[in-house]
Amino acid sequence: MDLKDWAGAAAIVTGGASGLGAATAKALTQAGLKVALFDLSDDMGTALATELEGLFCHVDVSDPASVAAGLDKVQAELGAPRVLVNCAGIAPASKTVSRGEPHDIGAFTKTINVNLIGSFICASQAAARMVAADPFAPDGARGVIINTASVAAFDGQIGQVAYSASKGGIVGMTLPMARDLADKGVRVCAIAPGLFLTPLLEGLPEDVQTSLGAQVPFPSRLGQPAEFGKLVCSIVDNPMLNGEVIRLDGAIRMAPR
Ligand code: NAD
Repeated sequence: MDLKDWAGAAAIVTGGASGLGAATAKALTQAGLKVALFDLSDDMGTALATELEGLFCHVDVSDPASVAAGLDKVQAELGAPRVLVNCAGIAPASKTVSRGEPHDIGAFTKTINVNLIGSFICASQAAARMVAADPFAPDGARGVIINTASVAAFDGQIGQVAYSASKGGIVGMTLPMARDLADKGVRVCAIAPGLFLTPLLEGLPEDVQTSLGAQVPFPSRLGQPAEFGKLVCSIVDNPMLNGEVIRLDGAIRMAPR
């Protein structure tokens, strides 16, 4: 089953209003899927959904009831979700101990709640809808779930202890989730991006962006969000990709700072 066979199917992209999620929504739309954006950002989400002739749902991924309401809307308007790409995320920076004070536990918990638990809420709820739907292909395929980790799951830098813990959790749940859903025809992969030029990095001065890009072995530049969207489409396209975490990073290995 190729990407073209998924044309017309419903896809959900969380964090779809901005950055990697927005690029993913564009790539999936171009591939012919009907895309719903789950995000907190109403203005950007509505504008992109209008441009893509898709659906915007105001959803907080860390709130199970909010996710369920978004899924109800998708099911009613676009049909059963067949593809879920979890891109919603936050990246606050703080050290384990800073000026003698322990890491703020509220900030730590929020990072885990949004990045890890939010991805799991969306994945488990979307998977239940995929499982309830008829197989999409003769081989029994019902859907694909792609979670977004980070190279910080492997080489977390100083100040990334909460973020790295949340992304390490995404890496850890990839294989067991793929195994849990294998007999239902739902594949699960994760992408671990390196440095991508999204609003997060666009806010940095140009010389800082250039110096960050120069740390990437090849190509020596920041990744384009469209290149992330391309990998999402490749994962959907390739039925043998399952249970795997793919680094998309130009071979960068982050230094401590
Ligand atoms: P971004 O800030 O441009 O987009 C994140 C989106 O998530 C925003 O639209 C935001 O409104 C949404 N969001 C945040 N909390 C939410 C919540 N509780 N519910 C719903 N939506 C919520 O960031 P990005 O750079 O595109 O990052 C996307 C994902 O990729 C994140 O998980 C991030 O950790 C990961 N990542 C990014 C990079 C990079 O270089 N940009 C590198 C590694 C990993």
